[in-house]
Amino acid sequence: MLRHICSGLFLRMFILLAVAIVIAAWPDSVGRQGFLPKRRVVMKKIIRKPETTLSALQPKKRTHHIRLKPLIVIQHQPDSKAEDAPPLIQQYVVGESNERRPIECLVFGEGEDGILVMATIHGDEIAGTLLVRQLERHLRAHPKLLAGRRVMLLPVVNPDGRERNSRYNANGVDLNRNFKTVNRQNSRRHGFFALSEPETRAIVRAIRQCDPNRVITLHQPLACIDYDGPGRDLAQHIATCCNLPVRKLGAMPGSLGSYAGIELGIPTITLELPGEVERLGPRYLWDQYGNALIASVMYPTFVDVVCVQDKKSDYNGFWGGP
Ligand SMILES: [Zn+2]
Repeated sequence: MLRHICSGLFLRMFILLAVAIVIAAWPDSVGRQGFLPKRRVVMKKIIRKPETTLSALQPKKRTHHIRLKPLIVIQHQPDSKAEDAPPLIQQYVVGESNERRPIECLVFGEGEDGILVMATIHGDEIAGTLLVRQLERHLRAHPKLLAGRRVMLLPVVNPDGRERNSRYNANGVDLNRNFKTVNRQNSRRHGFFALSEPETRAIVRAIRQCDPNRVITLHQPLACIDYDGPGRDLAQHIATCCNLPVRKLGAMPGSLGSYAGIELGIPTITLELPGEVERLGPRYLWDQYGNALIASVMYPTFVDVVCVQDKKSDYNGFWGGP
């Protein structure tokens, strides 16, 4: 009888002791180590694995890594040493508008010095497109200008607005207020969030692809040369070659100037042509402003031209800004 009681008591004590040891050894969720530290180390290793993938996904401000597939390589003369050899010209589509219109892009040359020229971000400011087309012809005819340079041309970055003759895109958004900047303001006209519009994203893609040393964007009708970021010298350089004065208009919220000029630190010129000047035709535009565009490409080398002395802007104000 006594032997029976003792063995039952011993069994109960053994079970209680075993349970106490398991509880003490098991690590809990608030970080108590217990007796099993090796288990925690193994778990940490498993958690660390995805970190490299996450860092690879972080966007970079200026990068060559995005490569666009060329639609057409029009000419390719990589081995030619002749000064008048045809330049390398590549044609791309950098994106599509809301209404699926392609946003076209031409790249001339392969040099280190990148220059990005774009027009008609406001769809009713079409003189810039005519000028960019003239610049395209000039670069084809004068390949010497491309020595050491790479010129990217975006003739129409707001094709839906161009189609409607409207400042805005098909969603009614001002693309020059839609970039991701510190001074951006969310609204229907500026987009409810940064880069909400496919056209703006296409421009950002073009900037990453080109990695430019300077950006020239053509607008109307303020008749002046505005700049953002470290662009003052470039603005003055361009002003020696046309009758437009340098005028600091201030950084507009969410604008290309705020994004490329101030946030990325790329000298960014807003070349404001006079209003309705497109009516005078592409030949007139090239006579008046062609040297300004060539100067922006050749900077800091001066263009050999007779500079215009009269630098008056007769424009007194415009509600929308550049
Ligand atoms: Zn404009």
